[in-house]
Order: sequence, then C-alpha cells, then structure tokens
Amino acid sequence: MKNKKRVLVLGCNFAGLTVARYLHREAGDHIKITVIDRKNYINFIPNIPIEVFNNNNPADTLEFQFQKFLKSDGSEFIQGEVENIDATNKKVYYSPTERKGAAQEQIAYDYLVVALGCRLAYDKIEGFAEFGHTFSDTFYGNEVRNYLHNDYKGGHIVIGSDRFIQGQSPKLPKIPIALAACEGPPVELAFSMADWLKKHKKGDAKSITLFTPGDVIAEDAGKGILDQLLPMVSKMGYGYKTNTVGIERIYKEGIAFKDGTSLEAEMKIVFPNWEPHPFMKELPFVDDQGFVITDLFMRNPDFPEIFAVGDAAAVTIPKIGSLGHMECEIASKVIANEILGKEEQIAPLHPMLLCYGDMGSHKGFYMHTDEWWGGKTSILKMGYTPYILKMGFKTMYQTLGGKVPGWGLPLSEIVGDHSII
Ligand SMILES: Cc1cc2nc3c(=O)[nH]c(=O)nc-3n(C[C@H](O)[C@H](O)[C@H](O)COP(=O)(O)OP(=O)(O)OC[C@H]3O[C@@H](n4cnc5c(N)ncnc54)[C@H](O)[C@@H]3O)c2cc1C
Repeated sequence: MKNKKRVLVLGCNFAGLTVARYLHREAGDHIKITVIDRKNYINFIPNIPIEVFNNNNPADTLEFQFQKFLKSDGSEFIQGEVENIDATNKKVYYSPTERKGAAQEQIAYDYLVVALGCRLAYDKIEGFAEFGHTFSDTFYGNEVRNYLHNDYKGGHIVIGSDRFIQGQSPKLPKIPIALAACEGPPVELAFSMADWLKKHKKGDAKSITLFTPGDVIAEDAGKGILDQLLPMVSKMGYGYKTNTVGIERIYKEGIAFKDGTSLEAEMKIVFPNWEPHPFMKELPFVDDQGFVITDLFMRNPDFPEIFAVGDAAAVTIPKIGSLGHMECEIASKVIANEILGKEEQIAPLHPMLLCYGDMGSHKGFYMHTDEWWGGKTSILKMGYTPYILKMGFKTMYQTLGGKVPGWGLPLSEIVGDHSII
C-alpha cells in the first residue's frame, strides 16, 4: 500500500515495544512503523532483584532481543541515539550507535510516540558510585549481587528514594504530586532483602531501615493499603524514616539527608530522581521538567500528532510499567482509529496502581488500587499467588515479545483480586 502513514516510536523497552506491537495489531499493514532505540534488547527491570537474590547475573536472563518480534510485524528497527525532535517540521534527529563517529541522520514522521523513559540521576547523588547500590539495571544488579554474596559483612542496610521532581504545566490533567518516582521497588526490596538475610543467617527485618522523602512511603498505594502495610512493617522490626526531603550524600559509613539527619549503614540501596533526558527539556511539548505533556488519551494538546507512553509521559505518576502498559493500549487505538477512520469508543486513562512484588521464599504481594487518584479500589494480597503471577508476566512478556493480549492485565487483576491466600 502506497502513502502509508509513518508512525515513529522512540524508545524500545517496555512502553516502546508494547506500543509498536499494539499499533501493528490495531492498524496492520495500513501504517509503517519505525522504532528507534540506542540498544537492541529489552531490560526486564522488575525481575532484577529476584535474580540478584538467587545469585544470578541479571544480564543472563533479563536482557532479551526484540527485533524478531518487530520483524514479524513488518516494523523497522533503527539502533540509534535520539538527539532532537523538530515538532514543527515533524522530524527526528538521531545518530546510529553501532559504531562511534556516525553522522547525524533525520527521519520524518506522521505520528510520533515518545517512549524514551527517563534518565535515572545517580550521577547527581554525591558518593553514589563509590558507596551506593541499586537494582534498576543489569549492571547495577550484578554489582549489588557481587557485594551481597561476596563482601557483605552483616551491617545495617538502608533502602529508599531521593526526592523526585515532578513536572508541572497548566496543560496537564489533574494528577496528584509524588515526592518519590516509584516506591514499589524500595518496599519490595525491604521484604525480599529481609528474607535473604534470614536465609543466609545474616540478619532480618531489624537490619533494614526504609526511608522516604515524603510523609509516608509508597503514598500512591493509598490509605487503605498503607493502614495494613505500615503496622506490619513496624511489627516485623524494620526501621522507618520519613520526610528526609532528599539525599544529601552517601559516604562509607552511611547516608546523609537534606533534612540534616543521617543514618549509619553498610549498604546504601537508593533510587534516584527520575529526570527527563536533557534534550527533551527544550522541546515545545513538555512540562517544566521535560516530561511530555499529554491528555488522558496520551496525546499532546499542541502537537496532536505527538503521543507519549511510559515513564517519559508526564501523567505516568508513579513511574511504573503497568501504567505505561495501559497507556500503550490507549495510544495505539487512538492513532489507529484516526488513520483508519474508525469510530470505536476509547476510554481515557484511568490511573491506578497494579503491581506484583517479590517477598522472597516464592511469596509476593499484590496491590491494586486507585485510592490515591480518588477511586475506591484498594486491594492488598500476600502469598504464593502474587509471586507466581509476577514470574508468569515475565514469561508471557518475553514469549509474546511485549504483545500481552488484551485479556492479560484484566486476567491478572481478576486472579490477584480474588485469589485466596
Ligand atoms: C527496581 C525496579 C523495579 C520495578 N518493578 C516494577 C514492577 O514490578 N512493576 C512495574 O509495573 N514497574 C516496575 N518498575 C518500573 C518500570 O521498570 C518502569 O516503569 C518501566 O521500565 C518504564 O518503561 P519505559 O519503556 O517507559 O522506559 P524505560 O524502561 O526506561 O525504556 C526507555 C527506552 O528508551 C531508550 N532510550 C532512552 N533515551 C534514548 C535516546 N536518547 N535514544 C535512543 N534510545 C533511548 C532506552 O534505551 C530504553 O530502551 C520498576 C523499576 C525499578 C527501577
């Protein structure tokens, strides 16, 4: 078919791969899909802690190739560094990353989907490289694995987040303000780390202090869930520190906070500020931090051919993959409807937290809530089923190359909400 519309997808981790595959599902051969990412594999980030605690290098099992899935859809992949977006002339500038020294190229689009995620600003935390640990990619995952399994002396462990600077714009839909980008990972790690310490006879929950820049950790879990979770955390013996304001610096013996206090610790496990990529900050369709402004159909109000999904979108608060997943379904349908002239009704994003966390020993927790956004759903479950569902999602994602079927998330909600644990 001649004169097909080109949909250009920037980024190919969770959100980019999923939206590219859903676009093909919705519009088939009526569109030409091109995807650009600097790397040619997916980092399956949510399962890094499980591999670390099992003493596996997460790079061995959690980096998987996606090109065969894009090829089977007839989508094109370019391995390159995206350097600029010219929204007025509908062009993207990038440099191929296969070899150093490549000259800058440009590519035109009819529709653009930004799925570039964020820059995790560890480099802005003084002392992180020398004295900090984290779990947010396979490199850091393997570093923390080596430390835990070879060098850990049984000292105290602190786990928490730096202050997140959420973007603002009068053009954004109303969403609550988060002081941390995503506190599911610190909570999950506190549980699975305590289990690991116990198994290795090196400590238990009392060896760990959780900290947060806000009044309460994981505020987006909503009051109903926190009223169950926080007393449990306290009963198990975890230390808990709130209102740190942010991380001042990390040093050999501990961590200092912006409120002037500090904690002594052998291991400092931290999550940084999630920042937009530097080139994004100057673009005419972003908020005051550089996150892409969209409505709840994931479309930018000033440049209606520009969409954003996943962590790069301003409305993705907290920065969690399950929200990005819902956004991919919406954006792909909106674009396909418009190109194909379909009149199918599409529901706007209904933000909610849907998450499965590991607790060690094959147990996990499941949270499903929209309370923080003013809704009434608030479900917390713990036991073997959430762990099975977390592992099952990874297998489904890898096997289907990100094209989780339409019933995938609703089914896991049904199983999670109604499982007897
Ligand atoms: C430890 C941890 C545990 C987590 N657990 C969960 C969980 O259990 N459930 C859940 O839902 N979420 C979880 N999350 C959050 C989840 O990982 C993110 O929300 C998700 O990865 C966001 O996906 P994304 O595709 O939007 O962005 P990313 O995963 O950041 O992908 C962005 C992509 O864009 C590419 N890119 C960036 N800049 C450029 C550029 N200039 N040029 C070319 N390519 C570029 C990158 O290479 C990357 O492939 C967790 C996060 C962490 C850190």
